[in-house]
Amino acid sequence: MSDPKPSRRYDAIVVGARCAGSSTAMLLARLGRRVLLLDRRDLPEDLKASTHMVWHSGVDSLARWGLLERLQATGCRPLRRFNLDLGEAVLTGLAPAAGEADVAYAPRRYVLDGLLLDAAREAGVEFRPNSAVAGLLVEDGRVAGVRISANDGTETEERATIVVGAEGINSLVARSVGAEEYSAHPRNAGSVWAYFNDLPVDDMEFYSRPGRMGFLWYTNDNMTLAGISFDNATCAVVARNPDAAMRDELEAMDPSLARRVLAAKRKGSWLTAGTRGVCRRPTGPGWSLVGDAGLTMDPITAAGITNAFRDAELLCGLIHRGLDEPARFDDIVAGFEDQRNARSMPLYEFAREMGKLEPPTQDIIDLFRALSASQADTEDYFGVFAQTVPVTRFFDPDNLARIRALAIA
Ligand SMILES: Cc1cc2nc3c(=O)[nH]c(=O)nc-3n(C[C@H](O)[C@H](O)[C@H](O)COP(=O)(O)OP(=O)(O)OC[C@H]3O[C@@H](n4cnc5c(N)ncnc54)[C@H](O)[C@@H]3O)c2cc1C
Repeated sequence: MSDPKPSRRYDAIVVGARCAGSSTAMLLARLGRRVLLLDRRDLPEDLKASTHMVWHSGVDSLARWGLLERLQATGCRPLRRFNLDLGEAVLTGLAPAAGEADVAYAPRRYVLDGLLLDAAREAGVEFRPNSAVAGLLVEDGRVAGVRISANDGTETEERATIVVGAEGINSLVARSVGAEEYSAHPRNAGSVWAYFNDLPVDDMEFYSRPGRMGFLWYTNDNMTLAGISFDNATCAVVARNPDAAMRDELEAMDPSLARRVLAAKRKGSWLTAGTRGVCRRPTGPGWSLVGDAGLTMDPITAAGITNAFRDAELLCGLIHRGLDEPARFDDIVAGFEDQRNARSMPLYEFAREMGKLEPPTQDIIDLFRALSASQADTEDYFGVFAQTVPVTRFFDPDNLARIRALAIA
């Protein structure tokens, strides 16, 4: 493979301008790199297929990037307390902090993605909305740029040392380069949710029932998001007549929860979405993948945005270093895969299993019983979701044995 040519107009072209793409573009531009950011949509706009939780670790990224105050200024409420209703018991507590960040936020995507896009532009990123990437330019065996098809019908080409695909699970960059897929799994489940005025919540509430996971949390504009994840077959039935089916489902889940939701004023219709999971090799000559384009998790742990922030930072550090050492560029950027997988794969596998919403095994029932006897360990369990306690640490057999022994004692 030939070395990247230094004469190109941009150091990086980033395809897709939501949480993964805008953060990647912003971070590279802040490092002094010339960046073109493209999206086929006229962003910012809402993204309907997301419940938009940003966990403590993601909030820590926003704080380090100087964007947390902007998020707070939008009126988005901090989410501190976890409440996990298991039917026979309720676990409640706070997750360990990530740096200074001891809360989560769930901003609507027009708020979050808009804020990131503004920050990218302020850093010097050139953003072109309504610009779909229609194909890649390949020269001497490496990706050298993109073909852009604008909404007004014009076709252009742009070149860069690296093209970063941040265009979600159906990534055109991934398809065009034939990025290898692994650990893929079909869609486990689907969620049905809506937004409500005047729906009080104790920060974050989760209801675990056979084949179901209920969830409620505050977002911005004094709204609350409330919904339930179901196995695929049940989700399809509920989505056919969501008004009646959700009323019945909430009632069966917890009558007092149903009363609270039904007394609130719903804004807009019920939404429904789900996704398969896939990991892709995220780098190759002249290209890389970040966010869902490279790794899409089962959404049950609501981890995609938090992952995207972390991976944007990892990838940008490597691209920046690689640009200073053109002869080693591809080797340096290739280090992203191991770094990403070390952080993401344990959670990926955990989410894949949890997303099946199968009845708990006796081991899991025993674990939750033991957790109700240990507040510190309950809070560590919440830290798995907040991404402040590694999955491997919490589920280490010695740790689980210790927790169970505590309960027996
Ligand atoms: C039901 C459900 C609930 C979820 N809930 C949560 C949650 O609570 N918290 C959480 O963290 N994650 C959640 N997720 C996952 C989260 O939505 C994703 O991880 C996240 O949106 C990925 O961001 P991204 O920037 O990688 O891609 P996307 O958000 O998919 O953005 C991709 C962008 O690329 C653009 N694009 C696509 N193709 C092209 C092209 N050819 N040219 C130019 N532009 C292009 C699109 O217009 C889009 O703007 C959920 C997912 C589902 C399905």
